[in-house]
Amino acid sequence: MRKIQKHEGVIAKYKKYLPVTAKTPIITLNEGNTPLIYAGYLSGIIGRGFEVYLKYEGLNPTGSFKDRGMTMAISKACEERSNAVMCASTGNTSASAAAYAVRAGLKCIVLIPKGAIALGKLSQALIHGAVVLAVDGNFDAALDLVKDITAKYPITLVNSLNPYRIEGQKTASFEICDSLGEAPEFQVMPVGNAGNITAYWKGYKEYKKEGKIGSLPKMLGFQAKGAAPIVRGYPVINPKTIATAIRIGNPASWRQAEDARDESGGLIDMVSDNEIITAYKLLAAKEGVFVEPASAASIAGLLKLCRRGFFKKIKVAKAKNKKIVCILTGHGLKDPDRAIESIKEPKVVKPKLEAILREIGY
Ligand SMILES: *Cc1c(COP(=O)(O)O)cnc(C)c1O
Repeated sequence: MRKIQKHEGVIAKYKKYLPVTAKTPIITLNEGNTPLIYAGYLSGIIGRGFEVYLKYEGLNPTGSFKDRGMTMAISKACEERSNAVMCASTGNTSASAAAYAVRAGLKCIVLIPKGAIALGKLSQALIHGAVVLAVDGNFDAALDLVKDITAKYPITLVNSLNPYRIEGQKTASFEICDSLGEAPEFQVMPVGNAGNITAYWKGYKEYKKEGKIGSLPKMLGFQAKGAAPIVRGYPVINPKTIATAIRIGNPASWRQAEDARDESGGLIDMVSDNEIITAYKLLAAKEGVFVEPASAASIAGLLKLCRRGFFKKIKVAKAKNKKIVCILTGHGLKDPDRAIESIKEPKVVKPKLEAILREIGY
């Protein structure tokens, strides 16, 4: 008999809150259950009265939070007897779709914007056997084509426009509340196509309605400066940023992201590529957590707010620290080229004891 494991994925864990029935085949890679890590260095920067936590979503099976939504989308595609799925992707959606499609025995078709995808992610989709086509255009153009094709042919769209994706992704907010025993006061996250901020906000509201938490967090979203349509108030035709996962000029869930911002009393702001790279290196060097650049937008945003005195203005009761959870959406190994660009090559030394001791200061 198959051995039951402690954590069998987000559908098994949060069935009660998800649109599944006894008839839904559960397609899973045991995603979710990612660590919520206390960040001592960052807490020190924000100052007394605040605790910073990192929700390390890069530890999902394919290396990003997309797996939470994909387990739902692919399970429902199976239930509906679909035999192919399709998505446009900045990389992580395709990696996830390809892996879950394998488990379900579905064909997976991926459109990527030509030349704008981190190699690590592309290799994932390919090694899982997806049909990958590079479109000579940006993400938004690729998504328009996918919408068109999936509307006309019996192929299931698995971008975050697929409502099941949002349903699965909201389980991350449940996990945060379950870990902390309450909702955090603030949640900081990157915003690209804006499905994830939509999902978290939905999750928090549902948990509050269920009486699992007493209050809701303020949602603090960050776009990259060269791809900040929500901040600017108009679509960006040629989005540019090194954070490829949030290089999106016309977010599918634009309005829902604004709702999350406004209903929660939060904000959506932007950070420059320089701020993202600084945060990317700081997180690795000071907290021991390696993420891809888009995820570092969370930390860049946190530091930007801190510099502006955002947290200083907030009154904190003596015995009760305020909790800030930063969502780290994807793993650093997704984008090895960026890491290699950000480091110095190791120094070459003679194979002699004295040479090494001299270098390490002994
Ligand atoms: C998809 C993705 C994002 C952006 O999420 P949206 O739901 O599109 O806003 C951010 N970071 C990583 C690593 C991603 O894969």
